[in-house]
Amino acid sequence: MRFTRLRLNGFKSFVDPTDLVIHEGLTGVVGPNGCGKSNLLEALRWVMGENRPTAMRGAGMEDVIFAGAATRPARNFAEVALVLDNADRLAPAGFNDADTIEIVRRITRDAGSAYKANTRDVRARDIQMLFADASTGAHSPALVRQGQISELINAKPKARRRILEEAAGISGLYQRRHEAELRLAATEQNLARVEDVLDQLA
Ligand code: ATP
Repeated sequence: MRFTRLRLNGFKSFVDPTDLVIHEGLTGVVGPNGCGKSNLLEALRWVMGENRPTAMRGAGMEDVIFAGAATRPARNFAEVALVLDNADRLAPAGFNDADTIEIVRRITRDAGSAYKANTRDVRARDIQMLFADASTGAHSPALVRQGQISELINAKPKARRRILEEAAGISGLYQRRHEAELRLAATEQNLARVEDVLDQLA
């Protein structure tokens, strides 16, 4: 799967609809200070399911919505669409029924985020797992923000291991293990409750 387009509408400084074509070989974005380079990278992370406002340099998730300027009023929603080329049909089951996948995330003030995959409503988790299984995602070390290289050089071995695991494509398995452990713990609690009831009946 390859990212081919990123469309922004009302996201941070990209108040007008903006269409970024991601040609093969694009590895970096350059431009004057404050022109929106980091906002572009954040839009990419956001549409892949980032749920920490701090990772978007905000206090709350609604801070990604265009906040207004001297000549323009604030917007009520922000939307980012990411188009993936799936001609090789490598997308996980559930997403693998078309040559192109368009993931859309939209946030509306006071109404939170909603996701769509090829116009179908999907959950945030489905999107996060799609990208985790494809060895990318909101936390992918392939997306390098400012200052990240020096952070990596100074990182502890455990943090560096996460990068190798991501490259090996197993980060989705960690999420699934965590969810399985939560279900197991809930089932054990239910069993303990059943045993209590059985003791009382005996
Ligand atoms: P630098 O090279 O200095 O790091 P940059 O090109 O990475 O800059 P960004 O940090 O992406 O620039 O963009 C900063 C601009 O985005 C600022 O002008 C800021 O006011 C604007 N901005 C951020 N959030 C919003 C928002 N919610 N509404 C409107 N504008 C916003």
